[in-house]
Amino acid sequence: MTIGDIPKLGAFRKPDKEYVVPYLPIGSVVREREIQAVTQVLGSGETLSGGSRREQFERRFQSYVGTPYAMSTTSGTVALELAIHLLGLRPGDEVIVTPQTYQASIQPLLQYPDVTVKFCDIRSDTLNMDPRCLERLIGPKTRAVILVHYGGHPADMHEIMDIARAHDALVIEDSAHALGSLYHGVRPGALADIGCFSFHSSKNITTLGEGGMLTFSDGEWAERVDRLRGNEVDGRFLPQRHHFGDSKENLPGALYPGNAYTHDLVALHRHGTNATLGEAAAAMGTAQLDALPSLVERRRLIAARLRETLGKFEGLVDAPGDPEGITQAQHLFTCFVREEAAGRLNRHRLLHELDQRGVQIPLRYFPLHLLPEWRARGHRYGECPTAERVWFHEQFNLPCHPGLTDRQVDLLCDILEASVQAARCL
Ligand SMILES: *Cc1c(COP(=O)(O)O)cnc(C)c1O
Repeated sequence: MTIGDIPKLGAFRKPDKEYVVPYLPIGSVVREREIQAVTQVLGSGETLSGGSRREQFERRFQSYVGTPYAMSTTSGTVALELAIHLLGLRPGDEVIVTPQTYQASIQPLLQYPDVTVKFCDIRSDTLNMDPRCLERLIGPKTRAVILVHYGGHPADMHEIMDIARAHDALVIEDSAHALGSLYHGVRPGALADIGCFSFHSSKNITTLGEGGMLTFSDGEWAERVDRLRGNEVDGRFLPQRHHFGDSKENLPGALYPGNAYTHDLVALHRHGTNATLGEAAAAMGTAQLDALPSLVERRRLIAARLRETLGKFEGLVDAPGDPEGITQAQHLFTCFVREEAAGRLNRHRLLHELDQRGVQIPLRYFPLHLLPEWRARGHRYGECPTAERVWFHEQFNLPCHPGLTDRQVDLLCDILEASVQAARCL
């Protein structure tokens, strides 16, 4: 297996408009309600920044996910940055991550050159972190685990939390794909220490194209995040006299007694930023949250149609369904031409047939440990054999999002069937 095997889809890519089922970075459906919610804010004459709609969206989100706190940010990436900051990493600490995710899940760790990042291999069916590999990698220096619920399929959180707790490691769930999923009665984002969500246009709901959310239950973290996203520094705020005493030494004037504060820095290297979500975006988020159950239902319906179609070719294309206790939001529909089937069906040929017939195939998430920035930190091919085998040989995604019309879904299923027929080696 070599790098030369990477499918070169670009070689036969047509202009997007020529696709019957194009792959668009649009994951949600915008209806009249969202348009009304946004125009209502714009016409209200009220502030567009830091008003009541953000709080309303956060309250709705926290009760949906089931955590005491939900705090919005300008993007999922910023949510992850703040989450990783809250870990309080020190030189020599280790963080265990998954290689099969979008680069933003772990990009903030590039800012910590003295922290060791270990890539944990994945399960070949869900593409989520494999608890057995985690068990092998975790040790006394492990401060945290950062995982993703790939495509909306929740990771094995019972096993992973048991392993992490036994080693006093914190766990961040990148839940960017998993809004609307359920794991044994609990929502992703409430399964570990910190949940991070994205409301990018491609995700299960959106807040005008960009936005993110942090979910957790620690009240002190809530205060710190609120300062960090509001241009403050990461500190405990104290009345001024705590620092200057009552002597007023060298100060030109009197201290304000009540409302003037100074702070004890908690983390010197982290100053605040402005990462607060605007009012129109928050209003749209609340309307999208109302629509979430129907959006997820639509995704799951399309996924069921795709599975039914693939069921006609048993043993050729593998598309695992929901295990017991799990409802996946189907942010992605991932399927596999397994090694055992490779003699009978060529994945490359199948992708080509799909493309030629007008289905645009998104291949998502090149294994992160092989990206140049992680190779520069010493990571190499061979580190995560399952992630590598699945990416280079087995997996692909079919379009699956609520924006597809009924007609497009019918066409997608017909084209899929015809493409598998054409790509089979008889
Ligand atoms: C989209 C995404 C992010 C980043 O979210 P943005 O809102 O685009 O910054 C992080 N992790 C995963 C898994 C994602 O899919």
